[in-house]
Amino acid sequence: MINYTDKVVLITGGGSGLGLAAAQSIAALGGKLVLVDMNKESLENSKAQILAQSPEASIKVVEANVTDEQQVKNFVQLTVDTFGKIDGFFNNAGIEGKQNLTEDYGSDEFEKVINVNLNGVFYGMKHVLKVMKEQGHGSIVNTASVGGIRGVGNQSGYAASKHGVVGLTRNSGIEYGQYGISINAIAPGAIMTPMVEGSLKQMAGDDWEAAGKEFVSVNPMKRFGKPEEVGNLVAFLLSDAAKFINASVIPIDGGQSYKY
Ligand code: NAD
Repeated sequence: MINYTDKVVLITGGGSGLGLAAAQSIAALGGKLVLVDMNKESLENSKAQILAQSPEASIKVVEANVTDEQQVKNFVQLTVDTFGKIDGFFNNAGIEGKQNLTEDYGSDEFEKVINVNLNGVFYGMKHVLKVMKEQGHGSIVNTASVGGIRGVGNQSGYAASKHGVVGLTRNSGIEYGQYGISINAIAPGAIMTPMVEGSLKQMAGDDWEAAGKEFVSVNPMKRFGKPEEVGNLVAFLLSDAAKFINASVIPIDGGQSYKY
C-alpha cells in the first residue's frame, strides 16, 4: 500500500535519531532522499547506514543550519534542482535546550531553542510549501513533541517552541488542504535517540541509565520508544496512503500523554 518509487523526500535533522530513522524507512520503500543537518560527519554516517541497508537508494546530503533562512531556501532549491520536485518533507531538526525552572531558564537559551525548533520549522514550511503549491501535491510532517501538547516542566523554550509547531501545523494544514497538500505533526514521547540520552545525562549524570528506567516506569508500555517506530509513522504520513490526514497532531508515546 505504501510505495515511494519515484518519490522525493527532504528531511532536516537527517544526521541522527528520528530523521535518520525516517530516512531508513523511506529508503527501504524506494524513496529518493535529501538529508539536511548542521553536522556534516553525522550526515555522512547516515548516508553510509542507509546505503548499507538499501544499496540502490539515491541520497543527497546537505550541510545547513535551519535557523538561517537563506540556507533553508538554498536546500529547498537544491532538492528541486537535483530531483525535480518535493513529494514529502520531514521538518524535524530540533534541540532540547537546557532544563531549568522558568525564572532560571535564561533569555538567551529561550531564544536559541525557539530559533531552531520554531523559526527553523517555519522557514522550512515557507519555502517547501511554495514548491508543493506549484506542483499541486505534497505532504509535510513537522516534529512537535508531547511537550507540544502537554506541560512537562523545566522546559520553557522547548514547550513554547513545540506548542508553536502544533499551531503552525494546524494553521497551515487548513490553508493548504485545498492545494492537495497535507500538513501534520507528530508528538513523540521519550524515544531513545542521542537527544534523549543527552537529556538523561543532564538530569542524572553517570546514573543516566537508571534514571531512564525510572523515567519510563510510568509509561503504559514501560519502555522508551524506538526510533524506527517513529520512522515508520513518518513514512506512512508522508505517503499517498495518508492523503486525507491533515492538520492533525499524532502522539507516538505508548499512551503516556493520555494517562491520568
Ligand atoms: P537528535 O539530537 O538525535 O537529532 C537531531 C538532529 O538535528 C541532529 O543530527 C542535529 O545535528 C540536527 N540539528 C540540530 N539543530 C540543527 C540546526 N539548527 N540545523 C540543522 N540541523 C540541526 O534528536 P532526535 O531525538 O532525533 O530529535 C529529532 C526531533 O524530534 C527534534 O525536533 C526533537 O525535538 C524531536 N523529539 C524527540 C523526542 C525524543 O524522545 N527523541 C521526543 C519528542 C520530540
